[in-house]
Amino acid sequence: MLKGKTALVTGSTSGIGLAIARALAAEGAHLMLNGFGDAGAIETLRAGLEKEFGIKARYSGADMSKPDQIAEMVRAAEKEFGALDVLVNNAGIQHVANIEDFPVERWDAIIAINLSSAFHTIRAAVSGMKKRKWGRIINIASAHGLVASGQKAAYVAAKHGIVGLTKVVAIEAANAGVTCNAICPGWVMTPLVEQQINARAKAAGQTFDEAKVQLVAEKQPMHEFTRPENIGALAVFLCSDGAATITGSAYSIDGGWVAQ
Ligand code: NAD
Repeated sequence: MLKGKTALVTGSTSGIGLAIARALAAEGAHLMLNGFGDAGAIETLRAGLEKEFGIKARYSGADMSKPDQIAEMVRAAEKEFGALDVLVNNAGIQHVANIEDFPVERWDAIIAINLSSAFHTIRAAVSGMKKRKWGRIINIASAHGLVASGQKAAYVAAKHGIVGLTKVVAIEAANAGVTCNAICPGWVMTPLVEQQINARAKAAGQTFDEAKVQLVAEKQPMHEFTRPENIGALAVFLCSDGAATITGSAYSIDGGWVAQ
């Protein structure tokens, strides 16, 4: 379905971003990977994706908190592949603390990486998409883009912000063949969440499994973690012709979290 198209997925060295990159590659898209990690492991990952899916995969180590590096990454993708057709803003970090204890530096980092990076990638990529009359922008928000929880001031603010940004871009690009949508996952089992479960288990003197079940049950009527592959499948659907008029939407994939 995406043969000959090119996709940039930020934060695709791990978790949800990697699952989305794999799902797009399985549809034939060439990839620009991005994210942190061990250089050798990333190279193995990149070469493995090329071999498994018969696509071209490149890697940018751009730091999503650095606007100049972000612009350069988009330029590099366009130069390497001749066009950038699918942009997935996925990179994200988390910090949990009451607002009075929230480190200013963590607030700034979360707003930069989870929100401003998407402004910078879209700003750099959307004119090319409009010119070619085809583009898909997918912003990975969260259930926390629609509702709040305590101790997550920066994350909730950034994710609400990205849902708003999604709507603005959808309106601006509405008649240029470019759609922009947000995906709002509930709990997905990835390294980001594993860290939170470990912290909770330690604080409450629980095992990892006890803390895991308690975490999901607090928020979701369905006591299941979403699999990263399910988010990949939704991203592929949003790139399909069937989704051509879906724009400005925030898609929940959250075991019923925000239905309550
Ligand atoms: P993860 O920690 O497994 O992956 C995060 C990715 O972002 C990694 O590739 C990491 O290297 C990259 N990254 C972090 N900081 C970066 C920076 N400054 N520059 C470039 N890359 C950077 O996390 P995940 O759980 O896969 O989360 C991915 C996205 O999904 C995030 O935006 C997160 O908020 C969102 N999300 C996750 C869940 C969940 O339950 N896991 C739920 C809702 C939303």
